[in-house]
Amino acid sequence: MSDVYHFWTKGQIPSVYFGPGKIELAHVSDEYIDLHEIHDATRIYLDIALRILAPDVDRAAARAEIDVEAAVRLTRDLVRFPSENPPGDQREIMAFFKSWFERHGIPYAEYAKVEHLPCLVAEIGDPEAGPTLHFNGHSDVVPAGDGWTYDPYAADIVDGKMYGRGTCDMKAGIASFLTVAAYLVEKKIPLRGRLQMSIVPDEETGGDFGSGFLVGEGIIKPDFAIIAEPSSMRMSITENALLWLTVRTEGDRVHTINSVGAVNAVEDMADVIQGFKALRREFAGFRHPSLGGVVMTVNVVNGGIKTNIVPDECVAHVDCRFPAASGLTIADMLAKVDAMLDRIRAENPTIRVSYTYHGKDAFRQPPDTDIVRFINESMLEVTGKPAAWLRTDLELDRSDAKGR
Ligand SMILES: [Zn+2]
Repeated sequence: MSDVYHFWTKGQIPSVYFGPGKIELAHVSDEYIDLHEIHDATRIYLDIALRILAPDVDRAAARAEIDVEAAVRLTRDLVRFPSENPPGDQREIMAFFKSWFERHGIPYAEYAKVEHLPCLVAEIGDPEAGPTLHFNGHSDVVPAGDGWTYDPYAADIVDGKMYGRGTCDMKAGIASFLTVAAYLVEKKIPLRGRLQMSIVPDEETGGDFGSGFLVGEGIIKPDFAIIAEPSSMRMSITENALLWLTVRTEGDRVHTINSVGAVNAVEDMADVIQGFKALRREFAGFRHPSLGGVVMTVNVVNGGIKTNIVPDECVAHVDCRFPAASGLTIADMLAKVDAMLDRIRAENPTIRVSYTYHGKDAFRQPPDTDIVRFINESMLEVTGKPAAWLRTDLELDRSDAKGR
């Protein structure tokens, strides 16, 4: 789960993050998913698909009939592909998906902006006969890393939990919606509309070759989309603004014996770091109940080459995030950074500081779209409770405003 949601909102596609698995387990060692979460997700996705595409079918009977263990087995098959990104090449696991679609009689097409990062779009039903419901999932996983008790790619099942990289994020989600598609085909359920699915290769590295490519090029344009990212089956319809700053100070590279009057890039960066800390304090009073406050932290500093040489360069990386409800845009935040740097320049006239940035403004969907209503109706019917919010701008469900 990361920050590619803006592709869907920019493409004007009503879309919700809504999937099995706990978000806090997504990138840690011993990532796991409870098997009952896979069972529940499969039944809930089936209910939503039938509600939208086959309203005359007895949904309770279908939920009782669908083989939810097939979704567990498919999750296991998928986790056994170590589809780590970076490095990124997804051709092996995509070949598996292709053969899976063929085995289940589901037509698909392949689209690739670059060869090693193919996307698959599969669909059943008739787009002329009704709306298109889209399910999206990414095949890539973050590198397993150290500290595992279990083999990250064995998909061991212990005490009702499956362990492995990608169990939560997000192979269980993919397996759940694919199992729904296989069921609809196997039972020959006539659809008044289309069920469409995309498997994308590069969510963990920005999504430009996956969702960004498919939506941006107009290859997919569904009426609504469910992005099966881990959210404990809570809905997320917003994404905070993201601003990454690379700040550079320059100095004079001289031997310390000649350092009188020399500009020291590392010492000047210390002023800049203090400036960021002061700026952060300006936002301390703002905190959204479920989306949190303004994050601004200096996380990497590199500078200096030798004990007796004055450093001529120091580079710092700053991570900054904030919700739309803060009222701030990327432009506003850059203006504040500029003002902070100007104050430092006034106090430290020899400082030479500059920065580059990568920024995306916050995105949100309105909370009253059809897909939100369909999800809520299915959650109520299947679980007895409406879907809670994981992230929304509106506090529709205050009991869930736990803050993250
Ligand atoms: Zn993810």
